[in-house]
Amino acid sequence: MSTLPLATRTTDLVGSVIDSSTSLLAQQRHDIVRFAMGSPAPEAIPAGILHGIADDQLGRPDAFDYAATEGDPMLREALLGALAETGEPTTPERLTITAGGMQGLDLAFKLFVDPGDLVIVESPTYTNGSATALSYQAELLEAPVDEDGLQVDRLAELVEQAGRTPKAIYAISTFQNPSGASLSRERRERLLELSRRWGSVLIDDDPYGMLRFAGTDIPSLLTLADGDPLVFAVRTFSKIIAPGLRVGWVDADPALQHLLINAKQAMDTCTNLPMQRLVGGFLAGGHLGEHLIAQRTAYGARKRAMQDALTEHFDGMARWTDPEGGFFLWVTFGGEVDTEALFEIALAEGVAFIPGNAFSPSKRFPNALRLCFASSTPDRIREGIARLRRAVDRMGSR
Ligand code: PMP
Repeated sequence: MSTLPLATRTTDLVGSVIDSSTSLLAQQRHDIVRFAMGSPAPEAIPAGILHGIADDQLGRPDAFDYAATEGDPMLREALLGALAETGEPTTPERLTITAGGMQGLDLAFKLFVDPGDLVIVESPTYTNGSATALSYQAELLEAPVDEDGLQVDRLAELVEQAGRTPKAIYAISTFQNPSGASLSRERRERLLELSRRWGSVLIDDDPYGMLRFAGTDIPSLLTLADGDPLVFAVRTFSKIIAPGLRVGWVDADPALQHLLINAKQAMDTCTNLPMQRLVGGFLAGGHLGEHLIAQRTAYGARKRAMQDALTEHFDGMARWTDPEGGFFLWVTFGGEVDTEALFEIALAEGVAFIPGNAFSPSKRFPNALRLCFASSTPDRIREGIARLRRAVDRMGSR
């Protein structure tokens, strides 16, 4: 038999525990409360409105042609209008439509990271984001996160220990995945200073910023940067409309647009046009504002339901975060609870989560787990947390 002549970079393709759980859960035949995936609530997906837009937009052959690489003009125009209202106004030269947030991250690391370059990631961080940096053979430096997000005051010391400055800083600064924490304004400003001092690109990945249900808005890194070319913003419709659309956008320095277009042309030519038309129709029809209001209200209630259920079943045994928006709670057990081992037992009990180690390339969180409160109704959340407690008890008695 021949051996395959694989590229060396394939050794850095690490896969995603989160994405694998989608297929794992699809194979399960029993009832499972799904706290694993970061999916919007099924009832929050505006399927009826999108169906109506499809009737209107997708009855013509031109909706199924190739699109302009930078994005369909109809979506671009509608998005520029929507962003002017949601507080992150931008210009056509800064805007590139992507296949979801993941393609935005892929483009960011492709443009800025050479093999061996140092990239700062939050610890814990979003698995797929760090996996993308690794796929370009970055060396990752994990920097700790607390209730105010990335501990920016620790970065200088960590960089000094590493002996070289980072090429990129990968930050999920608002309602972080997985911790739910938001970087304070002071820390955002300090992070911008550091990225300027080191000449590092600051990848501002923010899928959840429009989903605040408590507290007050903090300007994004992109907004605070005020046009500084070092900030590369990655955005997506996955959490605010629907993840299966696979439509997002990048807001980056105009000097990068031709590189983004060249990189995308060598990757997928253009983003899926029918889906761009659906999103464009949704925005142009003025649906986003009302949709976001309904989602925020529902998610705030779900977070509270999850915290109350955790208090009922895990008080004194674990602690958890208190996010002001987004999708996730991060639970840390006081004692030694191996959440990777717990996963199998929990699945048998009928509840799914993502083990903490999935969010750290060096597996720093064996006794933590991520729970998505957005996808389940408050009743299902109560049921799921009760099942989780039964799983922990079963594991303890093994
Ligand atoms: N970044 C973060 C922090 C995310 O949570 C997600 C989705 N889970 C993404 C990027 C990817 O977004 P998309 O599904 O649009 O590719």
